[in-house]
Amino acid sequence: MTLESRTAPTPSSRTALVRRARRINRELALLYPDAHTELNFTTPLELLVATILSAQSTDHRVNMVTPVLFARYRTAADYAAANREDVEKIIESTGFFRAKTTAIIGVGQALCDRFGGEVPNRLKDLVTLPGVGRKTANVVLGNAFGIPGITVDTHFARLARRFGWTTQTDPDKIESEVGALFPRSEWTMLSHRLIWHGRRVCQARRPACGACGVARWCPSYGIGPTDPEVARKLVKEGPFS
Ligand code: SF4
Repeated sequence: MTLESRTAPTPSSRTALVRRARRINRELALLYPDAHTELNFTTPLELLVATILSAQSTDHRVNMVTPVLFARYRTAADYAAANREDVEKIIESTGFFRAKTTAIIGVGQALCDRFGGEVPNRLKDLVTLPGVGRKTANVVLGNAFGIPGITVDTHFARLARRFGWTTQTDPDKIESEVGALFPRSEWTMLSHRLIWHGRRVCQARRPACGACGVARWCPSYGIGPTDPEVARKLVKEGPFS
């Protein structure tokens, strides 16, 4: 039997959609048993700052600047009192460094003013911080506090659409529609798995369909090369940090 003939058709019912989505998640769990955020951090504050820096950048680039940044600024008060030129110099290579400097100094001030210098562990509080949207908030909740959250970045959004879990392009709508297919307890790891698979195999321009471990359940199988030899060359090896 060829892979094409085994590829799942679009499910006709909600139950079938949920079943297939959970099957893909289980297979991705086997493929990426140690999927995790590729940003380096040791505290919620470090993860919050690193996630702000990761906008329009790569985790690898962020991980290159954060050792210096985290050694120099250890608390929210340190960021609140930071000289912006000093911060700009350290984070410049991550891009958009002026806006990011404004955000992380603003985060430091807001944490000191409203949260006793601590990073809050509620979504509704996190999104009130400067430069912090739902994506950043969910990264912090899921990875620093162990509170389930779906992180809709560019990889997650692309794969969720390719898997037929949503047709939305708005991240909040994607989060809500995909979240409804899975138990809350799966949300954080599901996010990591999709991001890992998106970085390594199901890339934006040329997805490696012929070398993809979830091809038989993917309704988009065939949008990239299906020849195993060709596809294998498209797969990128991690780590990306
Ligand atoms: S690489 Fe191809 S088969 Fe695999 S998830 Fe992406 S679109 Fe589907």
